[in-house]
Amino acid sequence: MATAVATGPLDAHLEPAQRELLARCERLARERFAPLAAAHEAAGEGSRLDRELVGALAAEGLFERLYRRGEDRSWSAVVGAMDLCLIREGLARASTAAETAFGLQGLGSYPILQSGTAAVIERWVPRLASGEAVAAFALSEPDAGSDVARLSLRAERDGTGYRLSGEKVWISNAPEADLYAVFARTTAGAGARGLTGFAVARESPGLSGEPLEMISPHPIGRLVFDHVHVPAEAVLGEVDRGMSVAMRTLDLFRPSVGAFAIGMAEAALALAVAHAGEREAFGGRLKDLQAVSHRLADVATRVQAARLLVHDAARSFDLGLRPIGQVAAMAKLMATEVAQEAVDAAVQVLGARALERGHPLEHLYRDVRAPRIYEGASEVQREIISRALFAEGGRR
Ligand SMILES: Cc1cc2nc3c(=O)[nH]c(=O)nc-3n(C[C@H](O)[C@H](O)[C@H](O)COP(=O)(O)OP(=O)(O)OC[C@H]3O[C@@H](n4cnc5c(N)ncnc54)[C@H](O)[C@@H]3O)c2cc1C
Repeated sequence: MATAVATGPLDAHLEPAQRELLARCERLARERFAPLAAAHEAAGEGSRLDRELVGALAAEGLFERLYRRGEDRSWSAVVGAMDLCLIREGLARASTAAETAFGLQGLGSYPILQSGTAAVIERWVPRLASGEAVAAFALSEPDAGSDVARLSLRAERDGTGYRLSGEKVWISNAPEADLYAVFARTTAGAGARGLTGFAVARESPGLSGEPLEMISPHPIGRLVFDHVHVPAEAVLGEVDRGMSVAMRTLDLFRPSVGAFAIGMAEAALALAVAHAGEREAFGGRLKDLQAVSHRLADVATRVQAARLLVHDAARSFDLGLRPIGQVAAMAKLMATEVAQEAVDAAVQVLGARALERGHPLEHLYRDVRAPRIYEGASEVQREIISRALFAEGGRR
């Protein structure tokens, strides 16, 4: 299956190396990763971490795009937002499982790279880069999703370190991830200002968890912290400043969730275009019905517009333009909403066959839903955008 919007003027804003990265990721996803993911899912393991897939992503050098070792051998937290988006888009065109494995490794490890102590970085990053270890980002709790200031997992001083007690839920890659970036309350009653990030190893005594099943295959679970001890060197950044560690991570990753959504939308559009071009009906093909062809024209236009917004947000991030929150929110909001519309339109064009269990569109229909909720629901993105808008008095 070739995507409908892969090359040509629609990619005019990309450098040749960026186009090549996008095309390479799509090719790898189709030829190497999708068969691995399909086997994992067929074995009933879709909700569990796929270590073979993670190993394959690492072997193709994709994690090296997330973690860079400088000439002085130290690891760098400089992840290119544009590269991140292009990799996620390319992978999502042919394997949402590979995309998810890649994106989650980035999300879980970015707070470590960005704010971890040298000891934690040296211990973990080489293993994350090789795919030997898997990371997770643990923010959400049963009583604190969008309203992060309500987080209640406690971190209490214990000698030179801390003891963590409480619960996290809907944590991707849990409970099997090897390393968690955990956000916990260090100061009671201080809202978002009393949170601290910690790097917590899965083997820590007192840490347990269980997998959860979602609408589409996605490794995810619940974590319980029963007085889990972590040393002082596990603190990510400054004590009580964990919110800014989490938000800086989301500033980078939100546009890339948009890229994931765009990749899915492109895959859906390609399926719809191929089907409409072949399916005979009413003395011609489906594509000859203007109601069908114009709907797909609208989808293609909206997907490209959202894609350009995603790429623009990524470029702004890479140029160091700050604050980035508003444009990152716009990119995620528009891309995830447009992708939902695109997949729904494609299902409509294919008719019943798209809803048969195991059809690629049936899979995409389930996959495309969650990004409108995680890393900030669409309503939360609108809140970020409108707050910035009114703070600036509508000026741009
Ligand atoms: C597949 C999947 C993977 C996930 N992975 C992770 C992960 O790796 N790490 C992690 O920490 N969390 C993860 N999550 C959890 C996710 O981040 C939360 O679900 C999300 O933040 C929303 O929280 P909530 O579900 O508790 O909904 P709530 O916060 O209860 O919100 C429910 C709804 O209320 C509305 N709403 C909320 N706030 C506002 C507002 N300010 N204005 C207007 N309307 C509003 C929105 O419609 C929202 O969907 C994942 C979730 C899913 C589905």
